[in-house]
Amino acid sequence: MTPDGRFDRRGLGKLHAATALGQRHVAFRDSSDPRPHIAVTFGTRPEAIKMFPVIRELRRNRAIRTSVIVTAQHRELLDQVLALAEIEPDIDLDLMQQAQGLDALAARILTGFTTALDDLMPDRVLVHGDTLTTSMATMACYFRRIPVGHVEAGLRSGNIYSPWPEEVNRKVTGAIADLHFAPTERAARALRRENVSPSAIHVTGNTAIDALLATRDRIARTPSLAWEIEKLRKRFDGKRLICVTAHRRENFGEGMREIAGAIRELSDRSDVAIAFPLHPNPGVRDLMLRELNGHANIALIDPLDYVSFVRLMEISDLILTDSGGIQEEAPSLGKPVLVMRNETERPEAIEAGTALLVGANRNSIVARATQLLDCDASYAAMAKACNPFGDGKAAARIARILAEVHAAHERATRPCALTSPAANPVNS
Ligand code: UDP
Repeated sequence: MTPDGRFDRRGLGKLHAATALGQRHVAFRDSSDPRPHIAVTFGTRPEAIKMFPVIRELRRNRAIRTSVIVTAQHRELLDQVLALAEIEPDIDLDLMQQAQGLDALAARILTGFTTALDDLMPDRVLVHGDTLTTSMATMACYFRRIPVGHVEAGLRSGNIYSPWPEEVNRKVTGAIADLHFAPTERAARALRRENVSPSAIHVTGNTAIDALLATRDRIARTPSLAWEIEKLRKRFDGKRLICVTAHRRENFGEGMREIAGAIRELSDRSDVAIAFPLHPNPGVRDLMLRELNGHANIALIDPLDYVSFVRLMEISDLILTDSGGIQEEAPSLGKPVLVMRNETERPEAIEAGTALLVGANRNSIVARATQLLDCDASYAAMAKACNPFGDGKAAARIARILAEVHAAHERATRPCALTSPAANPVNS
């Protein structure tokens, strides 16, 4: 523990980094605990947001032992969510390095996660979504013959370079997992098209909506949790507020410059204010600070903790983003979203009429945003609350299915009383 009573994750990370080099081995396996052991793993902010409802539901079930392994491929953004959700990882691999390349990071996750598996020896690992943590943890499990459950399975854009490398991370995981928790019927169809057995696919809804609805209720009960956003609201009182986020690799360089140009143009309107939490990646942060700093109608702010960000979405009139998770959340809050990408693996919001693909293209972002700001009918058509991605009960469904699967496995592998020597004297 740290002096202020918090769990010292970095210390554990260092211990396990040493383990990965074969210097020290710590066995966490509790052989006296006969319950099925599920290890939940993640490494980034969006995964943590979408996995914390699952961890809570699993921990409610006393018949299951749940542990948490984080790779921390993002450090600060992950820590914000761990603190908010009060999750203390059993193992923290603390793998983030500055300017980390995909190849080196993938290799570190694969070897580090294998060590974590050898320490914990879980009966199953639960991975989430589309990150390198997802695909490399899955590979590590495959090498150790440990079954994998995939939460948020089946999203596909059909283009292996967009989102990159996320499309392939999902496909690798989909090829190995034996339980696929698809958020929507469309995702389940994509898995069936790839010959995943229908009996291994469960349509549960997206746990993003569980996290969102619970957090919205929490803010309603304790508004002071989002005090930072109230300050912002007062600063921009009377203006139409646009919330912006951008971080996708495909948009680095030219795309980010186009996005910055669009924001500058929109912020020249006297009736508009922009709130832009900057992703810490220098490819976003440095460029946006250079292009947008000092404009009276633009607030360039540090990444917000999840509670504050949910509140920011609630008070915004319009959201411009290239994020995957925000495309899922915004429809449940009734907020129109302009998706600054050329394709999406989440077309459900577009079909529901609450999101539009505008690309990372200055003219098209400005044209669509202006239409929504100036035309009440266009705005009303998109600002309708709906839940194409889930009903807020996905995590409970996932936990119930896991409990059933492992209870059935336990029944199937339990030695039969009739064949034991005591019950069958002929054999004794
Ligand atoms: N988010 C947050 N703080 C911010 C910006 C976003 O907590 O300043 C949340 C957002 O509500 C969503 C998730 O982070 O749940 C999306 O993460 P990101 O856009 O980084 O990743 P993606 O979803 O594209 O993988």
